[in-house]
Amino acid sequence: MADLDGKNYDYVIVGGGVAAAAAVGGIRELDENGSVLVLGAEPDGPVYRPDLSKKLWLDEDATLEQSRLLDGQQADLQTSSPVTAIDPGAHTVTVQGGATVTYGKLLLATGSSPRTLDLPDTDRVIYYRTAADYRRLRDLAGKDTPVTTVGGGYIGAEISSALTQNGAKVTMIFDEDLVQQRLFPTSIAELITKEFTDRGVRLLTGETVADGKLADESVAIQVGDGSSVEAGAVVVGIGVTPNVQLAEAAGIGTDNGVVVDDRLRTSATDVYAAGDVANYDDPLLGRRRVEHVDNAEAMGKQAGRNMAGADEAYDYTPIFWSDLFDFGYEAVGRLDSRLDTVEDWKDDTSAAVVFYLDEGVVQGVLLWNVWDSTDKARDVMARSRAGELTRDQLPGAIPTS
Ligand code: NAP
Repeated sequence: MADLDGKNYDYVIVGGGVAAAAAVGGIRELDENGSVLVLGAEPDGPVYRPDLSKKLWLDEDATLEQSRLLDGQQADLQTSSPVTAIDPGAHTVTVQGGATVTYGKLLLATGSSPRTLDLPDTDRVIYYRTAADYRRLRDLAGKDTPVTTVGGGYIGAEISSALTQNGAKVTMIFDEDLVQQRLFPTSIAELITKEFTDRGVRLLTGETVADGKLADESVAIQVGDGSSVEAGAVVVGIGVTPNVQLAEAAGIGTDNGVVVDDRLRTSATDVYAAGDVANYDDPLLGRRRVEHVDNAEAMGKQAGRNMAGADEAYDYTPIFWSDLFDFGYEAVGRLDSRLDTVEDWKDDTSAAVVFYLDEGVVQGVLLWNVWDSTDKARDVMARSRAGELTRDQLPGAIPTS
């Protein structure tokens, strides 16, 4: 793209992820001709991130090209272009290298960055998040290359199962006794743990990473008990932190993310925020930040529409889902096994609905091998919140088949 310095755009989107792509779609629903610039920090434009830990490993016909979200017709896309400053008063953004662009409306879709560990700085250690990370792992993770995953969250579990299904020898290091114990009741965490073990994933449970050493062809990860695990690639997924630095430096209100109102406006005039970085007021769950793709898509689109003049509330409670070997689930709200849980199993135990309650109110619903029921889950949460559904009435409230 030609030099940006001094250009003016009707809409500038800072960030090149799913929320950014969805925002372009939202703008285009109402404004066909306005000029749109997307400034992404990554070398790739927006990709559908769930594919990076699921489909691209599990569907042999899938390609990264198919996961791309924006085409050049909809917006000017500038990759490898981190924004270094925004000035809401002057309506400008400054791009690395010094170019300054003027905007009419600005969207902060800056997403989040992986937390890191004190491990050797090498491309064999991957803090897994981007298309470039996918390509690097593809290059490294041949059938004979052992892989270590660190962290028991979504990335750790999805990549461990996906790589195992590709024939890789995987060791998973995580600080719990069972796989995904923080999310699920013991009954389900035990099922997943057994499946991982049966499929050949080596589980190092209750362990934290103490150190790492680099050799020519491998990285040795030292765990807390002093033992060492050697692998050709290490995939780390220990959570993310929202990228609020630009907003903070510009004096925009932040509190665990960039705070937005129901129109997704920040505290600065003509500046909106959406996706992982935005702290919004969920109609069922109150103020929160959500790090799942359904939220990035829905919120990004709504922000785009509002930037183009729609004046509509974001009143959506997003869903999320995962696939681990042959298990799959969808969910709404908070999955936190420290909450009070009510489990409702199908007779043959092939599926279950789990309700997560805080002070008697349903805050989250897990649909374990139960499909097409997320609207029912939201309905249960709304009725529980309104005092229309007691704990005893939950079993059967959502059919397990
Ligand atoms: P995550 O799901 O938040 O899980 C991170 C896990 O690592 C947590 O269990 C965390 O424990 C643990 N952890 C934190 N610090 C650690 C440390 N120093 N050593 C070992 N473990 C540590 O994050 P993620 O798996 O890295 O995923 C990154 C982001 O992508 C998340 O926002 C996630 O929601 C999103 N994602 C979503 C999906 C999906 O929706 N299916 C799939 C992939 C990625 P604590 O909870 O105690 O901090």
